[in-house]
Amino acid sequence: MLADELRAFVVATSRAARRLLVTAVEDSEDSPSVFCDLVVPPTDPGDGPGDGDDGIPGALEGARRHVQVGAPLDLRGLVAAARSALVADAARGDAGVAAREAARLLADLGEQGVAEARPETWYGVAPVSSVAPLRSDDETVTVSPSKVETVTTCALRWSLEAAGGTAPDAAHQSLGTLVHSIAESAPSGSLTDLRAELDRRWPELALPDGWPSRQLRRRADRMVEKLAAYLAGAGEAVLVEPSFDVTVGRARLRGTIDRVEDAGEGKVRVVDLKTGRRTATKAEGTEHPQLGAYQLAVEAGGLDLPEGTRSAGAQLVYVGSTHVGHAVVAQPALDPAPDGSSWARDLVQDAAATMASSTFTARQNGLCEVCPVRRSCPVQPEGRKVVA
Ligand code: SF4
Repeated sequence: MLADELRAFVVATSRAARRLLVTAVEDSEDSPSVFCDLVVPPTDPGDGPGDGDDGIPGALEGARRHVQVGAPLDLRGLVAAARSALVADAARGDAGVAAREAARLLADLGEQGVAEARPETWYGVAPVSSVAPLRSDDETVTVSPSKVETVTTCALRWSLEAAGGTAPDAAHQSLGTLVHSIAESAPSGSLTDLRAELDRRWPELALPDGWPSRQLRRRADRMVEKLAAYLAGAGEAVLVEPSFDVTVGRARLRGTIDRVEDAGEGKVRVVDLKTGRRTATKAEGTEHPQLGAYQLAVEAGGLDLPEGTRSAGAQLVYVGSTHVGHAVVAQPALDPAPDGSSWARDLVQDAAATMASSTFTARQNGLCEVCPVRRSCPVQPEGRKVVA
């Protein structure tokens, strides 16, 4: 929503030819949009109304804050002003008269039942409530292959998403789910079959009429064409959407594979369909955590296949990327050592240990731009810590 509002704000403000007037209201119900600071960046708190020395850079030269709004005249505003006075003096290491009066006022208000006046309710003041690990040492940790990837890439993102920090499905994600479902229902389908299935099931997305839905349909058509081209040259699907549940150390590795193809000589190849735009590089594919976890499940006998079936490798098949045709990024066979050890086994066990721990490290990576929890992430400007 914020991104949409920012786009609308940029369009609105870019219409001005000579003057731009931005107004906002602040009271107990409303507060000015943070976008106001984009028009006139805040300088120091002592800036007065129209004082003519805002220190505003370049293109914004000439812009002025014409109205200075004080704390709202209500209880919350009074508490905020008192806290501000207290903190300002405390930061200077000097508890002057203003700070003492502010402290007394806050104490009185707190006693009268104004919750915001009591320090224990202030953000950032409470101590850490628990440093205990999420799981005790003897507990099993359920791990899914896609989570192995998230945990390995950034443990903080995993922990916040696991606690509910996920965005609701966008239309393009629903489209991805639909394409996966079509691939499941027609594992050796021709282009005609897949198109017919897409026509039949398109209404499931329940998209309103308009250009976004027409654009999404064009994208869906291209995905289906690329899927058909892949299926035309693919190995026979011996399993489609099989589930597995295997134990790897303290990890219980559970998941579902899009497609398992016959690779001959008692071996199978795991296929994971991808409908997003970003394509992994060849190097990323070599140790792709999700593919590695799938191969581990095959080697551990977790699929309904003849005993002794080995993994011949795995591949990501991209049908939604910007490539003209479908793109394939392959991973060589896992080839575990005689004692069963492999890089994928280590990865899954490490992921389980991280998921059971008490601290989760934020690790900057190529997906930070689209991370749903970046506003709570201390390594991003919008999520940095704002209290001492
Ligand atoms: S923004 Fe990047 S570093 Fe921060 S939680 Fe998200 S993925 Fe991790």
